[in-house]
Amino acid sequence: MEQSPLIGLEKKACTGCYACVRACPVKAIHVHTDSPIPEININRCIGCGDCVIVCGPKAITYRSSINEARALFESGGTIVALVSPSISAEFDDISDYRKLVTMIKALGIKYVNEVSFAVDLLAYKYLSLLNDFKGRHYITSIDPVVVSYIEKYHTNLINNMAPLVSPMIAMAKVVRKIYGEEISVIYIGPEISTKDEALKFDNYARVDVVLTFEELRLLFKEFNIDESNLEYSNVDGPLSYKGTLYPLRNGFAQTADMDENLLTASMFSIEGHKEMIKAISEFENNITTIQRHLCISFGNGLDGPGMTKRGNRLFKEHQVIKYANKRLQNFFRVEWYDNLQSYMEMDLSRTFTADDQRLPDPSPERIREILAELGKSENDLTGCLECGYDSCIEFAKDVANGLTKHEMCLSYVLKSNAQQGDSLRDMNEKLAQARKALKESEEKTVLEKESALQASELSNAMLEKLRSGVVIVDNLLKVVKANSTFTAILGEEAEMINEVIPGLAGADLNRLIPSNFINLFSYVLTDNESIENRDIQIGDNLLNVSIFPIVKGKVAGGIIRDMRAPEVQRAEVINRITEVIDRNLEMVQKIGFLLGEGATDIEHMLNSIIEFYKGENKKKKS
Ligand code: SF4
Ligand code: SF4
Repeated sequence: MEQSPLIGLEKKACTGCYACVRACPVKAIHVHTDSPIPEININRCIGCGDCVIVCGPKAITYRSSINEARALFESGGTIVALVSPSISAEFDDISDYRKLVTMIKALGIKYVNEVSFAVDLLAYKYLSLLNDFKGRHYITSIDPVVVSYIEKYHTNLINNMAPLVSPMIAMAKVVRKIYGEEISVIYIGPEISTKDEALKFDNYARVDVVLTFEELRLLFKEFNIDESNLEYSNVDGPLSYKGTLYPLRNGFAQTADMDENLLTASMFSIEGHKEMIKAISEFENNITTIQRHLCISFGNGLDGPGMTKRGNRLFKEHQVIKYANKRLQNFFRVEWYDNLQSYMEMDLSRTFTADDQRLPDPSPERIREILAELGKSENDLTGCLECGYDSCIEFAKDVANGLTKHEMCLSYVLKSNAQQGDSLRDMNEKLAQARKALKESEEKTVLEKESALQASELSNAMLEKLRSGVVIVDNLLKVVKANSTFTAILGEEAEMINEVIPGLAGADLNRLIPSNFINLFSYVLTDNESIENRDIQIGDNLLNVSIFPIVKGKVAGGIIRDMRAPEVQRAEVINRITEVIDRNLEMVQKIGFLLGEGATDIEHMLNSIIEFYKGENKKKKS
């Protein structure tokens, strides 16, 4: 059956914290500039599960095997469970390991065997291999994470891998030898790398389902399996000796009593993900000097992604040792030794396949360029290592290879933020200034509006007070404004319009006055010249008209006086008599010059007429 990838990322649950990116020891999780969500490159993954552990929102999950386990339980065949020696560190909440055995069997499993017997077996196989030294130093292949790491990132060390299967596969072979080839095997452990490891082996070495402790707990819950109503059961043999110590740092070496004396030991024991990476790199570069085998484990035995409890390393170690001691109370060395001998002949060999995932080194120029973009020079590479890389150069290489982005560099982000902060401050200051200017301009506009309104009201009032008719028109001869005297001069019809449209605003002048009058406005608007005191006859009315441009070619104003109006008549008589007097005076001065005194009488007579009219006018006003 085709399997889904070991590790999956639920994008919707991801908060983009990049803890997984920093945690991944082989940079199998990439960040691209066009997305805040990281992406898992499953080909580069070595199945360590660190990303699963660090992902707070549980956006990263490992492949579940619960459905496969259920299907196996329902199949009715013989199922054998292989439990990892770490089980004592996980199930400290179960009162007795024998209750745990019954609980596992309650799922429909017939036999429960311990992988620790295969650890014993392999430890002695390793002892023979290492003692039979033929000039080649080995790296242990007991941990699938280490095997995967070498197959993908140190392919030239494949021949240095000890050619032996892992404890899980070795135990699958042991139980098939005991119970028959047709049995189904379920492995239960703290790691997830074993899920992919199982896919590499078939037939006699087949492991049908790999469950983590976490998944086992889920199945207990689903099947309502609780220790309170179950009896004890013992694990099925063959039993182990010191293989139960396997989850501890030197557990594997101690299982076969390998030499751990620092003066004489031929093997270094290494545990932990950083330690694994550094040790393998050193092994590759300096093995001719180091001259030691490496017993390496990624360190998932007590804190793997399949365990439900994190930390408390010493407590977990204590649990493992406590369980080992308990088991040794009823230990029969002879029986164990016989079992060991009978399985030592079993073929536990394996081969490895290179799956090179290394990327080419970018050019030194490109690395220098990226370092400069990050604000670093080759002489100043003090790195905080917050990006998850061992050095700024390693980080720059992966930026060049498109595996990560500049923003993963803390100092780059801090500098960019500081720059952004400066420009944000500048922008805020400019915005504040603009806002102030806008406010001032708004206040000014309000004031201007108010004074314009006042001016308009004033001018309207003044217009209304005038005894002359006033009309202002635009270039289309539409009335912009007209006073009531103008409407009165035009007559009843205009006054009716004025009631509906005060000031005749928008009325067509063509419909209000005759064409000879219109022509005068057209002339002023076209030629931009004033017409003053032009008398025009409209029906029985004699109007005196002055028209002048207000805005060149666009607006013109007209002052119209009804010559029939008494005050206009009087004023006009005064104006016109004054005009006659002025002209006559000029003439009289000339005649006077000839006739002397006689002219004075004429002036006196004319002045008395003027005074008469002025007196009449004053009376009228008072
Ligand atoms: S650790 Fe989880 S939440 Fe954070 S970036 Fe990775 S997947 Fe997303
Ligand atoms: S399981 Fe390990 S190697 Fe794979 S993506 Fe997660 S952290 Fe990286």
